[in-house]
Amino acid sequence: RAKETGRNNYQFYTPAMNERALERLRLEGDLRLALEHRQFELHYQPQVDLCTGKIHGMEALIRWQHPAYGMVAPARFIGLAEETGLIVPLGAWVVRTACMQAKSWQDAGLGELRVAVNLSARQFTQKDLVKSIANVLRECGLAPHCLELELTESMLMDDVERAIGILRDLAGLGVQISVDDFGTGYSSLAYLKRLPIDVLKIDQSFVRDISIDPDDAAIVATIVSLAHSLRLQVIAEGVETAEQLEFLRDHGCDAMQGYYFSKPVPADQFEAMLRQGKCLAGSANIAG
Ligand code: C2E
Ligand code: MG
Ligand code: MG
Ligand code: MG
Repeated sequence: RAKETGRNNYQFYTPAMNERALERLRLEGDLRLALEHRQFELHYQPQVDLCTGKIHGMEALIRWQHPAYGMVAPARFIGLAEETGLIVPLGAWVVRTACMQAKSWQDAGLGELRVAVNLSARQFTQKDLVKSIANVLRECGLAPHCLELELTESMLMDDVERAIGILRDLAGLGVQISVDDFGTGYSSLAYLKRLPIDVLKIDQSFVRDISIDPDDAAIVATIVSLAHSLRLQVIAEGVETAEQLEFLRDHGCDAMQGYYFSKPVPADQFEAMLRQGKCLAGSANIAG
């Protein structure tokens, strides 16, 4: 796109670029039809309380079952949906579907689950965001504190005063707010303390080498204590090994999410995990 390539930055056209541009065009056209053709699906990844070892909630992650390409990862179409504005109806579908699912699991006696939903920048600044979230909660009958909205640092820091206004309105509804991929953006600590947020999610890039890289270990330990000083909960993303889990538990991290416990799975598989009462081995409730 013209904006990204500077004036003096000549681009030579190659067959590979042509192929990419074509794929993009195709995806964009297909994306427009995908909602009405019900090609989207939410997968759920458990969030596990590190004190009890139990699933206390889940993150809803969108999947696109493309008729020709198969499963398309969100990294390949969320940006496109954002640019075309399709993210607004798509995001509304995600919020509604996730809330309905959480409520239905609660009603089935599977626990007071909290569902986390990712918001895109465009959704966050939509004029009627707060009203539409309120409507969804009312229609689904889900308690507001059971919905968590995940935002990124750049969304919050882009225009801090405006973000604070939106966050206050959301907090007024009683929903929870978390900062996703925390540590990869440019949050100012001065602003962080002014934002009405509830949860920091430690980015998986810091968790990956936690047990071998002392710098990453120091960063994670610092984020945990920062969160707790600000009276926020802290959850680690991308936990894949027992060593990472042990480190996080030893450092007082509240919860975790990652392949070590489970990948994001379709709703029926998630429900099976809940019914089995799947727990983390070595947790308090197992020891006791
Ligand atoms: P995210 O919100 O930071 O989600 C975490 C990503 O890490 C997910 O990728 C998840 O599958 C993956 N993950 C979880 N545990 C592990 C692990 O142990 N190891 C590794 N290597 N990865 C792990 P996914 O589902 O491909 O989503 C990628 C991103 O797409 C999300 O990052 C989020 O920014 C965006 N996204 C997903 N669903 C939605 C949605 O409904 N709306 C919006 N606006 N964005 C979404
Ligand atoms: Mg997320
Ligand atoms: Mg993340
Ligand atoms: Mg709050």
